[in-house]
Amino acid sequence: MADYQNYLESNQDRFLEELLDFLRIPSISALPERAEDVERAGHWVARRLNAAGVENVEVLPTEGHPVVYGDWLHAPGKPTVMIYGHFDVQPVDPVELWTDPPFEPTVREERVYARGASDDKGNMLAPILAVEALLQSEGAAPVNLKFCFEGQEEIGSPHIPAFMPPHRGRFACDLAVSADGGQFSETEPILLMSLRGVCGLQVDVHGASSDLHSGLHGGRIQNPIHALTQILGSLRRANGSVAVEGFYDDVVELTAEERAAIARVPFDGEEYLEDLGLDNEFGEPGYTNRERGWVRPTLEMNGIWGGFQEEGIKTVLPNSAHAKITCRLVADQDPAGIIDLLKEHITQKAPQGVKVTVTPLSILGRPYSIAADHWGNRAAAAVLEEMYGREPYQTRSGGSIPITGVFQEQLGVDTISFGFGIEDENFHAPDEFFRLASFRKSQIAYCKLLHKLGESSPQN
Ligand SMILES: [Zn+2]
Repeated sequence: MADYQNYLESNQDRFLEELLDFLRIPSISALPERAEDVERAGHWVARRLNAAGVENVEVLPTEGHPVVYGDWLHAPGKPTVMIYGHFDVQPVDPVELWTDPPFEPTVREERVYARGASDDKGNMLAPILAVEALLQSEGAAPVNLKFCFEGQEEIGSPHIPAFMPPHRGRFACDLAVSADGGQFSETEPILLMSLRGVCGLQVDVHGASSDLHSGLHGGRIQNPIHALTQILGSLRRANGSVAVEGFYDDVVELTAEERAAIARVPFDGEEYLEDLGLDNEFGEPGYTNRERGWVRPTLEMNGIWGGFQEEGIKTVLPNSAHAKITCRLVADQDPAGIIDLLKEHITQKAPQGVKVTVTPLSILGRPYSIAADHWGNRAAAAVLEEMYGREPYQTRSGGSIPITGVFQEQLGVDTISFGFGIEDENFHAPDEFFRLASFRKSQIAYCKLLHKLGESSPQN
């Protein structure tokens, strides 16, 4: 057994206590009244990095929740690897559905239950513990290390794009490794090939200066709800494809090999529908269910309101109607460019007699993708294959992690995903948990990954 493995094993009780301690901080980034707790979690991380032997640790302010930095740069000639994770967590509602209070972590049946256990506190603590084990048992790390832990991932990292430019030098590296991710199951590993980007907008349609009597004014002036539905109806075709001109122009089509890799990932379409209580799937023709969810861009209406919605009848001609729309994007679609296309389309389709305004929503993230044979993925694949005894599936995510796009754009660096959460661990839901087996496995995996990256050269 490697020395680091001995170190990890003999410190496992302490590490678990530390994880529980970390999980007691209610660092919910979405709630303004929890801002101090997010800050406190950042300082907890900073102290833990220091204790692990990481140097130059700092809690860096942003316009919102802070970023924690640290480094260890004593491996000349070796790649510089930046480890990413987040110490903020999702809100806990509905809190009555939790078996135990979400910030009083409990260990049951080899699982630790608490908000943030899997997403992402358990996962982001693992590389810190791995680095401590390597420094303690080998006296050095196999690569140069930087750490970037943020406190605003769960609200879409709104202040990271503005935070990064003045800190480019500090965060410069050869590869980012995200500890915010997972594996397919306890026995099946994955490599994450892509994440979708996101953008959104609100459409407001205004008619007369006030609500009007439909008997007096109906048929004589435009109805904002009709105008809005006309606009919304023009955005998507009946078969599910997006009807906005230019929407697909920058989409990079997958190769036959990439589609085959997606088809290899187990998926039970019937079970999927049964879980959702549905009889039929729906989506763009020519693509599998997985492809529609992972590698095709979408446009979805998230909400629509206006007019009279109470019980009974009110023969009103409403003076306004509104909708929120978001798009999931794939490489190489540009979120700002897509917003422009949508604006143009909506303006063109706006019928006479109403005033239509389009306001971008604050959600904005670039799509992200990485090649399967990227040197970082090759190292991760080798480690996962060694630990699980099988080749990782090449999966993709329909969701968005905006910071990967920021790293690519601002630091010119690719991100590999190396986390050990499993989809059934209730992230963002009541009774979130993390398997203790995954907690231990992730520490060893990070030691092995850093060694493997130390033997790699970013150029090949
Ligand atoms: Zn997360």
